[in-house]
Amino acid sequence: MSIPIHTYDAVIVGAGLAGSAAARELQAAGKKVAVITKLHPLRSHSGAAQGGVNAAFSSEDSIELHEFDTVKGSDYLADQDVVEFMCQKAPETIRWAERMGAVFSRNENGTIAQRPFGGQSSPRACFAKDRTGLTLLQTIVEQAMRLEVEFWDEWYAADLLYENGKVYGVAAFNIANQEKVIFNAKTIMFATGGYARSFKINSNAHANTGDGLSLVARHGLPLEDMEFVQFHPSGLSGNGVLISEAARGEGGILLNSEGERFMTKYAPNAMELASRDVVARAIIQEIREGRGVGPRKDAVYIDLVHLGKEKIMERLPELRDLAITFLGLDMIKEPILISATAHYSMGGIPVNQAGNVRKNNDEYVEGFYAAGECACSSVHGANRLGANSVLEALLFGRFVGKTMISEMDSINLKVADDSDAKAMSDELDWVLTVNGKEKVTQIRDDLQNGMTDNAGVFRTEDTLRIQLADIEKLEERFKNISIKDKSKIFNTELQEAIELGHMLDYSKFIVVSALERKESRGAHFREDFPTRDDENFLKHTMAYMNKDGDIKLDTLPVTLGKHEVKARTY
Ligand SMILES: Cc1cc2nc3c(=O)[nH]c(=O)nc-3n(C[C@H](O)[C@H](O)[C@H](O)COP(=O)(O)OP(=O)(O)OC[C@H]3O[C@@H](n4cnc5c(N)ncnc54)[C@H](O)[C@@H]3O)c2cc1C
Repeated sequence: MSIPIHTYDAVIVGAGLAGSAAARELQAAGKKVAVITKLHPLRSHSGAAQGGVNAAFSSEDSIELHEFDTVKGSDYLADQDVVEFMCQKAPETIRWAERMGAVFSRNENGTIAQRPFGGQSSPRACFAKDRTGLTLLQTIVEQAMRLEVEFWDEWYAADLLYENGKVYGVAAFNIANQEKVIFNAKTIMFATGGYARSFKINSNAHANTGDGLSLVARHGLPLEDMEFVQFHPSGLSGNGVLISEAARGEGGILLNSEGERFMTKYAPNAMELASRDVVARAIIQEIREGRGVGPRKDAVYIDLVHLGKEKIMERLPELRDLAITFLGLDMIKEPILISATAHYSMGGIPVNQAGNVRKNNDEYVEGFYAAGECACSSVHGANRLGANSVLEALLFGRFVGKTMISEMDSINLKVADDSDAKAMSDELDWVLTVNGKEKVTQIRDDLQNGMTDNAGVFRTEDTLRIQLADIEKLEERFKNISIKDKSKIFNTELQEAIELGHMLDYSKFIVVSALERKESRGAHFREDFPTRDDENFLKHTMAYMNKDGDIKLDTLPVTLGKHEVKARTY
């Protein structure tokens, strides 16, 4: 049976802030755009962002300070030209979002309110209560829909059409009934979001399984800086659901089992508002040394009681609800239990400032772009500062959309045909017919437990080697799965099997890249190499997977700039 081919000017995979902002931009310029998304657009993880979005526009703040904080926060691995671009365009991006209809929380005098976040010299995070992401996502998706962007929701992108340095489409299937379609276009953008689901304790949506990264890597294209996974200091104990940094920004304090405000030891100046990696390590260190709290002694307290009911209800209502729902603890009356949770991924599909995807250190892939959390531009280097990521998604989504508009005319459309759906069809057939003994859920649990134990906040050569060997065993077990549901209608078991394949792929990139980086920088902490080593490692990791699944490493120079490389203290 022949497979329908739909032709557009631009095809975007992902309907979060990055994908929707790009789609709006393209459609407003008169281009024909399709957005493919495995979720309803408003279910994209962008909608879960609570705390805020950064822009330096108050009188005490400056663009230069925003740049400096971002570069310092990145442990000097960020590319400073891209950081400058982002910080300069941040105020304009907030104003743009406002013009689109987003309503931000206000000060008494009517100006946009800004709250302090970790690692920042000045209150810089604009917010809409603690529902910032949802407010922005609703606005941008609505504006894209108003212009009649075609959203293909609950369609699953299963392959990238790539040949000889050129991308020309995506093969996808309808989750509702497994109908297959080829999307053919001159320009394709990936905006597939984050991928912290490969860790047991994580703050991410179930859908954050890194599909986009693995679809890219399977064509032999590189992934950058995959070792840098951010562990957020405050996930609800036991399940990792996020308690936004807004809780510390508004004045929450961290206490151990002895009632000690332990951040005085780790970051005497910034305290709870030190950079995320610093606070997350402090929490895990306290727990390891026996000063944890809670039934399993695997958490610490965050105390917000002193803020008072009024402020909590005004500024942190969602966070309060989450703690009541999941832990039965009311932050108005008592401290709540938190610990570090895998949260954000600094690494990803390597792109330049304009969003062009790298083929290698010297060349770019024609017609292929990426933005948002799946991309590595690299604006966050080894550690992202809170509220810089919603900014990244909105801002680069929009600007990469503009790049696509300007480059489109010089690209020749490579016309797709039926054979372009072969890899996807083979994969679906395999999952539906393979008849082994292994269960997808068990392999996924084993992967997540191992990643948390061996490639988490603290890592060593030994733990990483154990994890690499485990992933190789899991890959073998994966060849031997079977699923019970063989139907075509909303086959979530089939989707989870495909997603597990992606998780195994990119987890291997994380571990192999972490093994090679024999230093500690930002979120990557090697207990066997506890200090930063600029002489040998002030460079990006570039990793390529071959057809056998082996990963080869290379490096890419960091773009330094006016912010001099220094020791990083808070
Ligand atoms: C709980 C939480 C709170 C956060 N709070 C903040 C905050 O306050 N401030 C901040 O700056 N950052 C925050 N972040 C980070 C920030 O929200 C994200 O990095 C950002 O929103 C990512 O946007 P995105 O557009 O790249 O991806 P997403 O919003 O995750 O969207 C990804 C899209 O890709 C689609 N997709 C993926 N794979 C496929 C496939 N195979 N086929 C079809 N579609 C696919 C999905 O359907 C989805 O539409 C938070 C993150 C979390 C998890």
